[in-house]
Amino acid sequence: GGRILLAVRVAPLAEEHVLLLVEDRTQARRVEEVRRDFVVNVSHELKTPVGGLQLLAEAVQDAADDPQAVARFAGRMTLETERLTRLVSEIIDLSRLQTTDPLADMVIVDVAACAAEAVEHTRLVAGLREVVATPTGDPAQLRVYGDPELVTTAIRNLVTNAINYSEDGTKVGVVTRRVDDVVEVSVSDEGRGISAEDQERVFERFYRVDTARSRLTGGTGLGLSIVKHICANHGGEVTLWSQEGQGSTFTLRLPAVVGDDRPIGSPADGP
Ligand code: ADP
Repeated sequence: GGRILLAVRVAPLAEEHVLLLVEDRTQARRVEEVRRDFVVNVSHELKTPVGGLQLLAEAVQDAADDPQAVARFAGRMTLETERLTRLVSEIIDLSRLQTTDPLADMVIVDVAACAAEAVEHTRLVAGLREVVATPTGDPAQLRVYGDPELVTTAIRNLVTNAINYSEDGTKVGVVTRRVDDVVEVSVSDEGRGISAEDQERVFERFYRVDTARSRLTGGTGLGLSIVKHICANHGGEVTLWSQEGQGSTFTLRLPAVVGDDRPIGSPADGP
């Protein structure tokens, strides 16, 4: 609700005075609520793969004298285990992003290099989609303060989605450019697109438009939530343009390093 929560403490002082301490607990309570919801969500999300594994283990036991069936069930157990592993590691990533000091170990990051690396990481899953990364302009203009691994992760999550939610034979474009004091990375696909209604919700953790499709691609529903937190920790934002049936463009906008020619990777004194 929109109510404000105040904690009030009264300490008697000498003579006829009291000390009144008033603290706004609204934000603290919100953080607590978010954390509690997260734990509930996580428990629910873990039940699916764990339940699946249990059923498969039983199926293997029942099929002991049918080697082909055993092999089939074992294959599915491997897939389910991989999914569980990815889920757990993304949950850890996300809870770290939600709790750590965003300004901890900042260095100067070459965003064009992160984009190239992110695209390279997705080669194996790209299938017959053409994934092209284009930096525009002077690479020295495409630098931000932050954590290069996190920037790469954010771009990689967007490219992975662009691949997962589009068809073979289409294009995925990754363009890195400088716009005023911001470095922009846009990831565009020619896929199914996202309805206006869902566009507001896709950044929520565990939200999926099409649960069946997400399950098929091994999605966890955490990818975009992680992207959103990485942007926030870098003082930036992520925006989305999409038209159903035409495709989607996700754009990261991170504050650029202005007027600094130290080599890439040097620790930052802060922006
Ligand atoms: P998931 O692991 O399910 O991909 P994400 O948090 O990355 O989770 O995305 C949330 C949901 O947003 C997806 O399940 C999908 O329905 C939708 N989505 C994300 N990226 C795209 C895209 N490029 N095109 C269409 N739908 C997308």
